[in-house]
Amino acid sequence: MSNQANHPPLGDSSGIRTIGVIGAGQMGHGIAHVCAVSGFSVKLVDIAEGALAKAINSISKNLDRQIAKGKLTVEEKTTALGRIETSTGYPIFADCDLVIEAATENEAVKKQILAKLCPVLKPETYLASNTSSISITRLGAATDRPARFMGMHFMNPVPVMGLVELIRGIATAEETFAKVRDLVVRLGKTSVSAEDFPAFIVNRILLPMINEAVYTLYEGVGSVESIDTAMRMGANHPMGPLELADFIGLDVCLSVMQVLHEGLADSKYRPCPLLVKYVEAGWLGRKTTRGFYDYSGEKPVPTR
Ligand code: NAD
Repeated sequence: MSNQANHPPLGDSSGIRTIGVIGAGQMGHGIAHVCAVSGFSVKLVDIAEGALAKAINSISKNLDRQIAKGKLTVEEKTTALGRIETSTGYPIFADCDLVIEAATENEAVKKQILAKLCPVLKPETYLASNTSSISITRLGAATDRPARFMGMHFMNPVPVMGLVELIRGIATAEETFAKVRDLVVRLGKTSVSAEDFPAFIVNRILLPMINEAVYTLYEGVGSVESIDTAMRMGANHPMGPLELADFIGLDVCLSVMQVLHEGLADSKYRPCPLLVKYVEAGWLGRKTTRGFYDYSGEKPVPTR
């Protein structure tokens, strides 16, 4: 792997060797993938056994893609997969130096996870959340170590996207921030620092645009296809906003808009009723094979 040559050897001064990941969904398996390829031991946990098997399968396929692009050798794939251990229980995190929480975007769920997780960890273990929008200060307060807690917001798909937003809660210690910022470099990624405001930087800007695209559809200004083509060709975006919403997951999009709406108390962040309806119907985008497009056939077909 090309960026591996630049990584300091394991056991360097940063002290992070073993990384735990909670939640083996889209983001969790991507984070596990990148950490394993970068030489870290990875402990991956999900409440659903099925999610773990699916995660390993996806990681394996994504590693194959990197092999096909010449970024990784077959041996490096085998080594990386061998570094990932999975479990449905938290005791596996006992020897982790850092645990990254990447479970469902729901504050109550995340707080429950953190409360259950902390007693298992070494006192010096760092904790991070991959939340897209929830207050890092509030999540940190649900742990026994707010000074060692911060936001580490990876982008989707993790093996492909180069950015990680780093967010300090009010109690985050500078040492924690510096350790995690160094780790981002070791993962071959670039970090930006964001303050602890709802949805941070990327989603504060991106999600209202997606929500506006759903309003544009809801009000009949354009069809799914015309809205996506307009933004691809007219604004030079690599993906249309509705395609992107399906890719992110409509439940995640809705949840970020709700956090912006409640957290900033401004009606301009009101989630579009059509987005709410799609989520209520269980049409969550690619992951459920239906969102603004139907993914059950060979090519995505617009649903409106
Ligand atoms: P997902 O629905 O694909 O995966 C969430 C996983 O968490 C599921 O496998 C679920 O079984 C698991 N889970 C739920 N409760 C759990 C528990 N108590 N213990 C262990 N596992 C549990 O969601 P995702 O898209 O991977 O999002 C995960 C996090 O990453 C969210 O906070 C989200 O906001 C954030 N995020 C998402 C994106 C994106 O584009 N999807 C981008 C950046 C950050």
